[in-house]
Amino acid sequence: MKEYVNSILEHIKQIEPYNEKFLESVTDVLTSIIPYLEANPHLKDVSLLERIIEPERVLTFRVPWVDDNGIVRVNRGYRVEFNSAIGPYKGGIRFHKDVSIDTFKFLGFEQTFKNALTSLNIGGGKGGSDFDPHGKSDMEIMRFCQSFMSELFRHIGAHTDIPAGDIGVGEKAIGYLFGMYKKLTNRFDGALSGKPIEFGGSFCRVEATGYGAVYFAEKMLNSHNDTLKDKTVAVSGAGNVAFHVIKKLYEFQAIPVTCSDSTGYIYDKEGINLQILDKLKMKNHKSLAEYTKDRPKAKFIPREKFYKTRNNIWDVPTDIVMPSATENEINLNDAKNIVKNGTKYVIECSNMPSTTDAINYFLSNKIKFAPSKAVNAGGVVTSVYEMSQNASFESLSKEILDEKLKEEMKKIYVDIALTAKEYGYADNLVIGANIRGFKRVATAMIKQGVV
Ligand code: NDP
Repeated sequence: MKEYVNSILEHIKQIEPYNEKFLESVTDVLTSIIPYLEANPHLKDVSLLERIIEPERVLTFRVPWVDDNGIVRVNRGYRVEFNSAIGPYKGGIRFHKDVSIDTFKFLGFEQTFKNALTSLNIGGGKGGSDFDPHGKSDMEIMRFCQSFMSELFRHIGAHTDIPAGDIGVGEKAIGYLFGMYKKLTNRFDGALSGKPIEFGGSFCRVEATGYGAVYFAEKMLNSHNDTLKDKTVAVSGAGNVAFHVIKKLYEFQAIPVTCSDSTGYIYDKEGINLQILDKLKMKNHKSLAEYTKDRPKAKFIPREKFYKTRNNIWDVPTDIVMPSATENEINLNDAKNIVKNGTKYVIECSNMPSTTDAINYFLSNKIKFAPSKAVNAGGVVTSVYEMSQNASFESLSKEILDEKLKEEMKKIYVDIALTAKEYGYADNLVIGANIRGFKRVATAMIKQGVV
């Protein structure tokens, strides 16, 4: 089976050598499911790997819009509808200057298996644009979102493809996108999740990814007879996920001591101050450099002072590391530093934050490692609760939704840990998550025939 996997990886390298992140994520998934492939050789006979790595549909489109000075700008829009074997495509929209088709292919591929780890029926997709919301006025963001939706509306729908937010796309952008979707389709339905609470949004959706990651973390530590209480935690990012990770960590009496944004990182030994973080990053979009004005004992290290070959935030020694900003924020050098610092747990909250060699280093150095596709599934889980509330015109309470999220995250941990054990790799949650997600999607694809 190794030869089969290697031949597939060689094939992708040849046909799309420029899609490095996609190749990285396909390599991670396929190499870790070899034990499952060996137990199921018939998958090769039906070319399952060839089919599962190919997105069902890739859309790119022009997004013209007019800025506040009357100048016409053009960005590129994307939607990768990766796999609908177990349900309609579901996954976020990202607005970030550095995205390309590679970003959305890798995110859509990862999302397919993440969604399969939940107990819900949702396929995988992802999309967005190279539009940079930093420094744009509200009116510019609205005009951009309207233009973006004037093409996307043809491809999405409550039973077809249901986008949500991601980096650079919060409630405000989702509101503008939904307004335009409703005008163009004359439908008020759940074709987008992450909506504001006033028009179809769900309680707990904003908090779900970060809170879910911490519920997962506590369950994981408990299974090692440990607990989050009194643990120091290095968190990266200062957006939706990072903020809610930090907030929930305090509820478990852990001490989050770092956070970061595109301008640098903060080390606050006494614990990150939630009120300041909320004011700077949730209510406004200011630089973390301003954090030290109200917390003079905290340190801000600007990005220009970062090393060339690694991420300075991982210099801070902590018991737990929870990356929550973006992909590839932990490379092999960072991993070596994290191990040297005596960290016990690495729990990935952003999508694919660790490179393949970093993950391998963690695993071979006995770090307890949890992969993002399991840890950050809480967001998509609560998005599906939003969809079901929209379909039934009902609204569930915060308490019910929080309880459902907690139970789902614990179940994901137990399921992947059991799967890892079943295949002879106890404690390797990468193998557990990839085999469990892959098995569900592959089984559905086989039962649906060659389509
Ligand atoms: P946000 O846009 O709310 O926050 C992202 C944070 O990371 C910001 O602080 C941003 O800095 C920083 N950041 C982004 N890109 C970079 C970069 N290249 N270098 C340094 N810092 C960077 O996004 P989310 O919190 O929603 O998403 C974070 C991660 O979690 C992503 O990987 C996303 O795919 C994943 N995720 C999110 C879900 C959700 O429900 N939101 C669900 C599942 C996964 P600045 O403030 O300066 O812009």
